[in-house]
Amino acid sequence: MATHRTKMLIIGSGPAGYSAAIYGARAMMEPIVVQGLQPGGQLTITTDVENYPGFRDVIQGPWLMEEMKAQAEHVGTRMMWDTIVEVDLANGSPFRAIGDSGDEYIGDVLVIATGAQAKWLGVPGEMELGGKGVSACATCDGFFYRGKKVAVIGGGNTAVEEALYLTNHSDDVTLIHRRDELRAEKILQDRLLNHPKISVLWNKTVGSFEAGENGALSHLRLRDTVTGEDSNFSCDGAFVAIGHAPATELFKGKLPMDDSGYLVVEPGTPKTSIPGVFAAGDVMDHTYRQAVTAAGTGCMAALDAERFLATLEVAEREAAE
Ligand code: FAD
Ligand code: NAP
Repeated sequence: MATHRTKMLIIGSGPAGYSAAIYGARAMMEPIVVQGLQPGGQLTITTDVENYPGFRDVIQGPWLMEEMKAQAEHVGTRMMWDTIVEVDLANGSPFRAIGDSGDEYIGDVLVIATGAQAKWLGVPGEMELGGKGVSACATCDGFFYRGKKVAVIGGGNTAVEEALYLTNHSDDVTLIHRRDELRAEKILQDRLLNHPKISVLWNKTVGSFEAGENGALSHLRLRDTVTGEDSNFSCDGAFVAIGHAPATELFKGKLPMDDSGYLVVEPGTPKTSIPGVFAAGDVMDHTYRQAVTAAGTGCMAALDAERFLATLEVAEREAAE
């Protein structure tokens, strides 16, 4: 078991964590990134990325994350193959974290960039057809289905917003919901139910996602929750929108969270309620959830971390004098 000490400890290696590391390293904070179980984060499980600025052609998610990692290392970040299992924030800076390996990490500032994971239905074909018709992000993948027939599964705000967004690309959008009423806010329901490009299939659950001869999604197997009847629903794209789960288990009782478990930050900043602890990316953002916004808040966390350290150093100097 070893102890790793740094000015800047970053938990998470998605766009938020790597961006915080790039800025932190260039500000001489000698960051350590603890990468977790999914080095590179959510973009490593997708293929085409077409909305990350700087690339004229479609790029691959895993490639983009390799590049971010290489850039962070190039400017002086230390990467750790470990997953944090415990954090101690109670006594203020420096903050202590324990890895699954038993190693201890101590940072004068802590950047939490543990992200969020889309919830999946867990039915056959869902994972196999990821990137081949099944997605959990209309903003990311909707463009690939322009002029095609698409379905959205879910009945909350996210599902309704995804369906409305998809009408920018498709004239044939169907929302599939397991009950006969939506959970989404009334105003969104009104927009959805009155939209000429959107139909709703009520009381239907998805039993499986089925591939056609070309290996891409061809139809969904549906079951009616009232009659028990099974049916096929043909479509080119299906967007699962049944919620996201932020990775905040570690911080329960230690940092304020909203009702859905996202970390609460001071509006417009990555500052949590504990000075020196910052949250960046999807872990604090249930609205935008994009690679570029995660990278942006990662940058903000590093800049605020630098200011926090400068204040800390002044306070320590004054105390010593
Ligand atoms: P994440 O990418 O979620 O990374 C979280 C990191 O935290 C991971 O490295 C994980 O290992 C680590 N971690 C978690 N817990 C611990 C722990 N206890 N200890 C240590 N590490 C931990 N966005 C776009 O802009 N364009 C797209 O085209 C696009 N396509 C997408 C396709 C798919 C299939 C998915 C799922 C998402 C897509 N997104 C896209 C959204 C984008 O991936 C996320 O918004 C972005 O990755 C969030 O970055 P993040 O750094 O906040 O967290
Ligand atoms: P949510 O409110 O939890 O809704 C999830 C939806 O998916 C529900 O309709 C649920 O059905 C359905 N669902 C869950 N598991 C399912 C399963 N296994 N099979 C089929 N359907 C399933 O999640 P969300 O829509 O992502 O919203 C999360 C939070 O973010 C909410 O607080 C929401 O208000 C907020 N949000 C706000 C905005 C906004 O303000 N513009 C936008 C997006 C999200 P049931 O209804 O039957 O339970």
